[in-house]
Amino acid sequence: MQDRLLFSFEFFPPKTSEGVEKLREVRGQLASFAPRFFSVTYGAGGSTRAPSLAAVLDIRAAGLTAAPHLSCIGATQQSIRDVLQEYQQHGIRHIVALRGDLPSGMATSGAFRYASDLVAFIREETGDWFEIEVAAYPETHPQARSATDDLLHFKTKVDAGADMAITQYFFNADAYFAFVDDCQRVGIQIPVIPGIMPIGNYAQLARFSEACGAEIPRWIRKKLESYQDDIDSIRAFGLDMITDMCRRLLEQGAPGLHIYTMNQAAATVALWQRLGLPR
Ligand code: FAD
Repeated sequence: MQDRLLFSFEFFPPKTSEGVEKLREVRGQLASFAPRFFSVTYGAGGSTRAPSLAAVLDIRAAGLTAAPHLSCIGATQQSIRDVLQEYQQHGIRHIVALRGDLPSGMATSGAFRYASDLVAFIREETGDWFEIEVAAYPETHPQARSATDDLLHFKTKVDAGADMAITQYFFNADAYFAFVDDCQRVGIQIPVIPGIMPIGNYAQLARFSEACGAEIPRWIRKKLESYQDDIDSIRAFGLDMITDMCRRLLEQGAPGLHIYTMNQAAATVALWQRLGLPR
């Protein structure tokens, strides 16, 4: 295991005042794990610009580090420039730069076709102000023509100025290790942090996974299906499975973990206890 593991926790911006309160509690519980940062997602097409910033500022007001996500699909250069300036004015120095997916009804991709265009623009406009994280796909992005194309596009994004990458979630550690080997082979040297999705609600997970190209291996799918509405059994099995995978990832050299928390603390707290990670 590496000496200094890099942990981060992802939230989405809450829509209600109850959601804001709940997220404060969740964040309070997870802060004791000393994450490098909490990240907050950004709706494609800028749909959550204000609530995402509000959530980021709320985390920072508690003395913690927060990284807003920023997606560029459908955006103009000026609108991205405005967001970057807003972040800079608030002293935000860390950003997760993404392409996003074109929302239905939006016809053109705008000024930025790919996340690499956004990374290059951020560097042009703000130099080294931001530490930039980007997305990576051990099981290949669903729109990529081939795994090799996707890897080379990832390299373009890294060469444009990304400092680190966070992967799409996966349930197969071998896919991650093979991807990291491929990255090294083509000269990608930045840390690639595995993105981890705790298992809570099978129907939702199946829907997400279908959309984002994350494979749920057959044996896991069959097990989860067999539990039907028995949420406790789904969670218990999910925790066993995710714990085993994370232990293997960390023991075999993964630089840390990024948890897609879905704004819940329980699964992450249980995972930390099982893994025996420090508080
Ligand atoms: P890109 O890196 O641009 O890749 C997208 C596709 O284009 C890939 O298939 C790639 O191979 C291809 N491509 C790239 N460059 C080229 C090129 N030059 N020529 C041809 N093809 C190319 N979405 C949100 O809307 N908001 C979020 O907050 C958000 N957070 C995320 C966080 C993480 C850690 C991850 C993994 C994903 C997140 N997403 C988010 C989802 C993400 O926006 C989608 O997966 C999206 O489809 C791709 O975004 P990207 O930044 O990886 O795009």
